[in-house]
Amino acid sequence: MPEDDKQLCRRCGYPVRLLRDNYETFERMHFVCFHYEFEHRSGVPDNDPDVDCGLLNCPSGPAARHREQLVTVVAALAADCSDGVPASWENGTLPRYLEALAAWLQDTGGDYTIAGASTKWSGWEVVADAMRAATIYEQR
Ligand SMILES: [Zn+2]
Ligand SMILES: [Zn+2]
Repeated sequence: MPEDDKQLCRRCGYPVRLLRDNYETFERMHFVCFHYEFEHRSGVPDNDPDVDCGLLNCPSGPAARHREQLVTVVAALAADCSDGVPASWENGTLPRYLEALAAWLQDTGGDYTIAGASTKWSGWEVVADAMRAATIYEQR
């Protein structure tokens, strides 16, 4: 049995690898499993695991928050265009904007990396960044 597999999560049964140094801190569980076991329902006893519990590190939180952020970005871009496309936009037509959006996603997507359990890689955030960047992005 590989070394990693000695530390099994007592909630889900899978090996704890990424945060193995915190194995005892998290009661012999993954951080995520610890959160859902002990923290997620501390305020609301029947809180759905898919619903943000409001704690800073809630694994269900970022998606909801990032979706709201993306809505804000898209609404702001729409507001910017309410009286015509701003002169500051390099890509002022829909075809140019969409081409720049595709190019930005192609060129920049690889720059996002998973830095650890506390840094979430979020598609919502990537799209929010892309939609802002596509207004001025110059295709390579
Ligand atoms: Zn687990
Ligand atoms: Zn939670």
